[in-house]
Amino acid sequence: MREAFPGNKPHRAIISAVNSERKRKARDALYSRGDCVNEEILNSVIKITKNSDVDSLELSLVKTLVEFLNCSRVSIYKDLKFFNSNGIEESLHLSIDSDNKYHWREREVNQSLDNELVSCMSSNCPITVEDPRGFDKRWFPISLNDETIGVIYMELPKLDPGQQVLVNAFCRIYENYLIVLNLSERDKLTGLLNRQTFEQKLSGLLRKQVRNQYNPADSAICKNDQRGHHIDSFSWLAVVDVDHFKRVNDKFGHVCGDEVLLILSQSMQSFFRRSDLLFRFGGEEFVIVLEPTTLEMAKSKLDFFRRKVEAQRFPLVGRITISIGLSKMSPHDYPMNVFEQADKALYFAKNTGRNKLASYEELIDEGHLTTELEQSEVDLF
Ligand code: GH3
Ligand code: MG
Ligand code: MG
Repeated sequence: MREAFPGNKPHRAIISAVNSERKRKARDALYSRGDCVNEEILNSVIKITKNSDVDSLELSLVKTLVEFLNCSRVSIYKDLKFFNSNGIEESLHLSIDSDNKYHWREREVNQSLDNELVSCMSSNCPITVEDPRGFDKRWFPISLNDETIGVIYMELPKLDPGQQVLVNAFCRIYENYLIVLNLSERDKLTGLLNRQTFEQKLSGLLRKQVRNQYNPADSAICKNDQRGHHIDSFSWLAVVDVDHFKRVNDKFGHVCGDEVLLILSQSMQSFFRRSDLLFRFGGEEFVIVLEPTTLEMAKSKLDFFRRKVEAQRFPLVGRITISIGLSKMSPHDYPMNVFEQADKALYFAKNTGRNKLASYEELIDEGHLTTELEQSEVDLF
């Protein structure tokens, strides 16, 4: 029998074997690259969801978006009405310049907003605009119960369909996690930070303060906040306590008491800066941490607030007053020690008439209080 196309069979077999070997290798390469990409994505998701506070969550998200999508800018915006305040805040901003240098900014309340950002907020729909400079600008809404609570803005090269799925998934993971973390960080009645987050938030603030001392040019706070420029600037911790609050409850009832706490916390949010930290520490006690300024400025700001509360009319209970204890906080102090010092100053204010501000450092200088060290020396002898 004549063999059709002699030599062809083995040749074909070889070609087919070579082809299938090539295909296998290509497939393996593809799978291993896919595995690698999948593993990186999974690792990023693990990193994002490992965070136990909102600030670190946002930092991880922004880093992940830059890493996977080659963004030259990422910003997270939040509508502060969902956080008991007013305005739109750019809670985190990262831009990468042509020298590949990273520029971070935090917590700035924006006065002028892009039209697209406003449209994205009001429509709860993503928006993409081609920039003539050759990249895309994208706004992704972050929503809670169909209401937009924030927007993630990115400047980045064109996305392929796979990357679109990825960016959408990252935004949804952030959205889910933001809601969970926000609930765990905030006091239910007032929406202020709760006591459980105190150490963590203050450690973050003090770390930032140390960083800014070494590299003030990179500090957003120094750039936009005159407070940052004083050489003798420190952070300040104030404990604020409502005077005779028990009487308010006894006379008007607990519900009216709650309303006082709510209105007072709203006054705090609108009076102090977004970069200052506000906590409900328990009951009718609040903690305010002011970013770096002088003692005089801290005192004048807090005393102005005290007088503002004194002059305010609370609809259900009329007038109330507050007392304030203040203490200095240096970058290497333990937050709880500083709190105890401010609390001693508050105790002094309460015992000397209430409706006043007292500063721990001034009380020490004036001999009204003794430091822990002096006290232990007294105890020794
Ligand atoms: P002082 O001027 O010395 O601070 O007196 P005070 O009455 O404010 O302080 P005291 O510690 O004697 O009483 C605090 C009261 O705050 C007692 C408690 O019933 C009330 N309180 C604590 N938490 C809440 C709350 O969440 N809502 C309401 N309505 N009252 C609260
Ligand atoms: Mg009180
Ligand atoms: Mg109290």
